[in-house]
Amino acid sequence: MPWVNVELCNGCGTCVEECPVGAIELTADGFAEIDEAECIRCGRCHDACPQQAVRHDGERTPQDVAENLRWVRKLLGHFKRPEDQSAFMDRMVRFFNKQKKVSERTLAAIAGAAAGYESEPAHNLCRNELGIVSIFPTTHRGRPRLDGKPNTITGRYRREMLDQFPKKTYGQRWQVETAFSMLKRLLGSALRTRKPYAINREIILRVLTINLMIVLHLITCFQQSRTITYLVNTLISLRFK
Ligand code: SF4
Ligand code: SF4
Repeated sequence: MPWVNVELCNGCGTCVEECPVGAIELTADGFAEIDEAECIRCGRCHDACPQQAVRHDGERTPQDVAENLRWVRKLLGHFKRPEDQSAFMDRMVRFFNKQKKVSERTLAAIAGAAAGYESEPAHNLCRNELGIVSIFPTTHRGRPRLDGKPNTITGRYRREMLDQFPKKTYGQRWQVETAFSMLKRLLGSALRTRKPYAINREIILRVLTINLMIVLHLITCFQQSRTITYLVNTLISLRFK
């Protein structure tokens, strides 16, 4: 979630103009303010701000911790007896532990097929709780064995991935990433529209445009070269450049 450092913001309004969903407005004090509920985390305000006043979420960690501590202290003030205070603190520990668990599980779920997140708990969460068929390439991580052989793979799903890794299905991931990368490189990485229905239309238009660009490029190259080999090479260079 991006946030605005008001010490850097000069109220120029560029981010307000750039936000595709109208999630930013200028306050009466003349600073930009982001509506957390409306923000779709596209990052355009961050890229557009001439003052670098829109900051990444991670940079706010110390402030978030301080805010949590202020909140806990405020609630603690309602309890006078030491045993009540102690019981309250136990409850807060349980609360923050639960928040941590929710974050970890969410991260595991959205990590998808990235090999860096490969683990048995991630498989379990996807398959047994979320109904997602997880496909992670199994990695032999950890300290190597003294005899030089690969580490033993533990866990039902990790072993399954080792024995029956669906290379063809996993390969589709690279195709999708290549298509996204080509689209972003040729047509830019940000959408210009703001309203949800317009965003959908712009995405469809971009997909049609990129396909038209490919076809036109092929026709031009074919007219110039008139050889199939050149045509194929051009297509490959357009996709993987
Ligand atoms: S673009 Fe930057 S400086 Fe301008 S209003 Fe937005 S946050 Fe403030
Ligand atoms: S520009 Fe994107 S990241 Fe910034 S507030 Fe708007 S929706 Fe959120």
